[in-house]
Amino acid sequence: MKPAPFDYARPRNLQEAVELLAARPDEAKILAGGQSLVPMMAFRLATPDVLIDLNGVGELEGVRLEDGALVLGAMARHRDAEDFRGLRDRCALVADAVGLIGHPAIRNRGTVGGSIAHADPAAEWPAVLTALGGSVVAAGPNGSRTIGAGELFDTYFTTTLAADEILAEVHLPLPPAGAGSAFIELARRHGDFALAGAAVVLELDGEIVAEARVVLIGVADRPFRAVTAESFLRGAAATDETLALAAASIGPEIEPMSDVHGSSDYRRHVAGVMLRRALETARSRVTA
Ligand SMILES: Cc1cc2nc3c(=O)[nH]c(=O)nc-3n(C[C@H](O)[C@H](O)[C@H](O)COP(=O)(O)OP(=O)(O)OC[C@H]3O[C@@H](n4cnc5c(N)ncnc54)[C@H](O)[C@@H]3O)c2cc1C
Repeated sequence: MKPAPFDYARPRNLQEAVELLAARPDEAKILAGGQSLVPMMAFRLATPDVLIDLNGVGELEGVRLEDGALVLGAMARHRDAEDFRGLRDRCALVADAVGLIGHPAIRNRGTVGGSIAHADPAAEWPAVLTALGGSVVAAGPNGSRTIGAGELFDTYFTTTLAADEILAEVHLPLPPAGAGSAFIELARRHGDFALAGAAVVLELDGEIVAEARVVLIGVADRPFRAVTAESFLRGAAATDETLALAAASIGPEIEPMSDVHGSSDYRRHVAGVMLRRALETARSRVTA
């Protein structure tokens, strides 16, 4: 199928984009990498009257380190993050995650802001944002506001961004030096969205877990923060047994959706296995 007819606007800066959106908030759609929106339009699952294309807005591009945080413009491509020098040394979880997104062609076009705004519960960036306790900056007609990861994801494919707001920037506070982190998932085929996966950050004090952040994908209507597993880990010795028990603790907490790709029970099982592996990998990456 072909998309329904639409108008097209190509603003040159963020202010212009905000004004264009504010003029028709309920009829317009922001176009970023187009990797999710364009197929939806082709299937007529999305029929915007006007597309506001951010691809000419240079101020939304780029990746930088700032005060211990990785700061990504909304239009930074997945590839820009993947190529960011020293990323794996600073936070292996982000490097793992970005390498798991689709295929190289998808990573060349798809954007960090687009992925977060799209809010697929199996996507990697929303989980990274949640695992690192990050935030986004939203720009609207009344100025900018910061939204923490915990308040951003509402339900399937829905965020708390207002209809007249544009996601402008993403802030990811990086874990302290020495912390170990990992993102591990299972997909049916290379490049597919994950059936389930886990993002983990572990800080150790000797053998003892000083801090843990655990987020699952593909098991709920948004990235799922496994607080029971986190509290189980905090203060415990990071033995194989502790990690396995923490991973098993998620079972009763989640009620994944069944679909053609896997039953609820299968996803629950996969999530537990991915979490155990992510915890073991994160532990192996802790440095003195
Ligand atoms: C074959 C295939 C495999 C894929 N595999 C994966 C995968 O494994 N993991 C994964 O995470 N993703 C995957 N994707 C999706 C890909 O990562 C997309 O890039 C991403 O979901 C959307 O980003 P985009 O820049 O393409 O956004 P678009 O498609 O342009 O937009 C997506 C939605 O977000 C809105 N939006 C975009 N930017 C903004 C903004 N700045 N402010 C407000 N709203 C905005 C748009 O209006 C639209 O509703 C895959 C896509 C394909 C086609």
